[in-house]
Amino acid sequence: MGYAEVSVNSPIAQRRTFSYAIPLGLSIDVGQAVWVPFGDKLLQGIVLELSRYPAVEETREIAGVIEPRPLLSPSHIALARWISEHYLSPLFDAVALMLPPGFERKALTFISAPSVPDGFDLSSLPQEQRRALGLIQRQGKIGLRELEKTLGKKEAQSIVSQLVGRGLAVRSYELEPVKVKPKKELYLSLAVEAGKARQEATRLSGKGAIKQAALIDFLAQQSEPMPWVEARQAVNCGKAVADALVSKGLVTVQQIEVRREPISYQSITPSRPLALTSAQKSALQSIKSGLLQVTKTNASSIFLLHGVTGSGKTEIYLQALAEAVKLGRRGIVLVSEIALTPQTIERFASRFPHKVAVLHSKLSLGEQFDEWQRIRNGEFDVVIGPRSAIFAPQPALGLIVIDEEHEWTYKQHDKSPRYHARDVAIKLAELTGAVVILGSATPDVETFYHAQRGEYQLLRLAERVTPREGSPLPQVEVVDLRDELKAGNRSLFSRSLSQAAAKAVAGGEQVILFLNRRGAATFIQCRNCGFVFRCRRCEVALTYHSAESVLVCHQCDYRISVPQACPRCLSRRLKFLGIGTQKLEQEAGYAFPQARRLRWDSDVTKGKYSHQEILNKFRAHEADILIGTQMVAKGLDLPLVTLVGVISADTGLNLPDFRAGERAFQLLSQVAGRAGRGTLWGQVIIQTYSPEHYAIQAAAKHDYAFFYNREIGNRRQLHNPPFTRLASLVYSHASDALCQRETERMKRLLIEERDSRGVADLSIIGPAPAFIHRRRGRFRWQIILRGSELSAFLSQIPIPQGWTIDIDPVGLT
Ligand code: ADP
Ligand code: ZN
Ligand code: ZN
Repeated sequence: MGYAEVSVNSPIAQRRTFSYAIPLGLSIDVGQAVWVPFGDKLLQGIVLELSRYPAVEETREIAGVIEPRPLLSPSHIALARWISEHYLSPLFDAVALMLPPGFERKALTFISAPSVPDGFDLSSLPQEQRRALGLIQRQGKIGLRELEKTLGKKEAQSIVSQLVGRGLAVRSYELEPVKVKPKKELYLSLAVEAGKARQEATRLSGKGAIKQAALIDFLAQQSEPMPWVEARQAVNCGKAVADALVSKGLVTVQQIEVRREPISYQSITPSRPLALTSAQKSALQSIKSGLLQVTKTNASSIFLLHGVTGSGKTEIYLQALAEAVKLGRRGIVLVSEIALTPQTIERFASRFPHKVAVLHSKLSLGEQFDEWQRIRNGEFDVVIGPRSAIFAPQPALGLIVIDEEHEWTYKQHDKSPRYHARDVAIKLAELTGAVVILGSATPDVETFYHAQRGEYQLLRLAERVTPREGSPLPQVEVVDLRDELKAGNRSLFSRSLSQAAAKAVAGGEQVILFLNRRGAATFIQCRNCGFVFRCRRCEVALTYHSAESVLVCHQCDYRISVPQACPRCLSRRLKFLGIGTQKLEQEAGYAFPQARRLRWDSDVTKGKYSHQEILNKFRAHEADILIGTQMVAKGLDLPLVTLVGVISADTGLNLPDFRAGERAFQLLSQVAGRAGRGTLWGQVIIQTYSPEHYAIQAAAKHDYAFFYNREIGNRRQLHNPPFTRLASLVYSHASDALCQRETERMKRLLIEERDSRGVADLSIIGPAPAFIHRRRGRFRWQIILRGSELSAFLSQIPIPQGWTIDIDPVGLT
């Protein structure tokens, strides 16, 4: 008899597996989905391991197989175990990342009747049992639900139990099927010969039925049935026109089932590899050797492709993928924001026609399920998607690309497992023997540090492929807002920005006003000298709490009461900062009354308009000024835009987060470096109270090395990642006082454990109110751990309900 270690879909299963016996006659494989009894329930589980001996004395039996074909490969099983251990998440949460969409469906119970045991006297059965058995035998196998309909719910269940007890019936379980509705489209074709149709067209147009004439004429020109949507566009007519032709017997309408293709290839023409520049050639050469090597050795190889936008990174991804395919491997490409990267997807689709799968949440469950199955069958050379696409069941994985690898969207921060797709990708590559390409114009400081140390191979594309004449890198002007105040200008727009914007709009050009607004951070700044109140211990900006009138450090809970004057210049002109896009739009209305304005932020895209619609409107020059947050930085490929104004670089710089400088640099660089694509491109104006800040200086000069050297120095000095790791422990509860008590209790426990176990390299910061102190009516307090072996340390500590652990947290929570 054999045993299986099963990860069970139950919240109390936590990070462990459970041993089950494999009943005789059942063949069980690693990676298979099974039904297992758990308490008094029957739950789904995934077999992670087979063994000859159980891990515990008493085991129950696996109840049945959900699907014969294993759902998880051995490397995915190892990956799930790693995720659960590293991010301290329940094992099934990690396993679930890799299951087909909609897997967590209901179980349906079926009853069947094997042959009646020899010598069993059926007439001895009570009448209702005999009746039920008759029903079951007649159908061979019958759903419990169906029996319930005939016999009544309670009765059916007890009768089935009795029959099963006598060995006359057996239960089996199946997942409710995913409902994949086939997609159908309306097609029109001629019901008469083309010659006759043309005569009819002439006749109809003579009678004044112009639209009908046009439609039938259009159909007469086609050799195949026409999709109604296309015919309608071509002729510009409504459904009534088609119906009229149908009723005259001239046209027929059919419903034709179409294959779901998440990419529409209609407007995509196949493309061929470009002849590479010498920088691209040498980068690709290194990647090619990497691919060859991983195919031979099954080790992994990681590349950091550092190149400004337009330096030809995507072309390298495309050619690297072609090479992987040549070696019999496949790829996964992660993009930071699928809605904003249609061009990238199109380029893959045109280079690998019909071999590209795209995963995104806009697909229906049925479509996602279809796509998952097709991926597992090896139908695609590449899978493109957001961070969760890293878990696609792509067979023979040889290449993983993470575009814009520094983006924070790669970290899942809002639900368990709180994984970072970059770290998962690197682990997965190790397990499958694959090449990873991390691409960015402004690499994450930690990634760059690993590259500097030789853990990743650094590939550099220093220049744009096609520097156009007349549009070099844009000129960046940094405006010191203190000078504006001295000159008596109190508006949101500096004199420089006002003049430039007015001039651009008057000249028929377009302007983007960019506001870096993450959260509603409120910090206090001296309007005279730009001084910002910071924590003496953590150096992060203190956050203003209006209710208590204090400034609080959200890392360590250092507090001071709101000061009356600036400690540096003694001015009393202290300003509470934190403006929103709505306010900015209003102000822009006063400053530029002639200009048509358009706002783009998540409030707008949650409502009526999608990203694409807003971009299209702006591209069609239906507005002169686009006002927005982070998102506008990604949509800057707009030929009419000649000016980008950054309203306040300080809002980003003064977030209470040690990554604030890095984040500000990345955003400003994106704004400053994205330009130079249109022929008109002009300038970028950055407004700030801290023009001397290295992040602003570096972005203005397009100088990554300068930024990195300063930043890595700070990180080393303050002992922040990559020189250590962090974990954030947040406790939330409706009572603020209770939060404080519980986090203090936890801190004492952590200190005790640390000291009794002799863990040297571990510091415990806080507790303090979390940056988002109150969310959905619950208060939140936070403890931060710093050290190298945090997961191992925390895995030994009992953590009650109400706590959320985030290993390697990114951003403020
Ligand atoms: P990135 O991904 O770094 O932004 P892309 O690969 O998108 O860079 O390249 C920028 C532009 O230059 C694209 O229009 C691309 O088609 C073009 N391009 C890239 N490589 C070459 C090349 N070797 N020769 C000519 N054009 C190229
Ligand atoms: Zn001051
Ligand atoms: Zn502090």
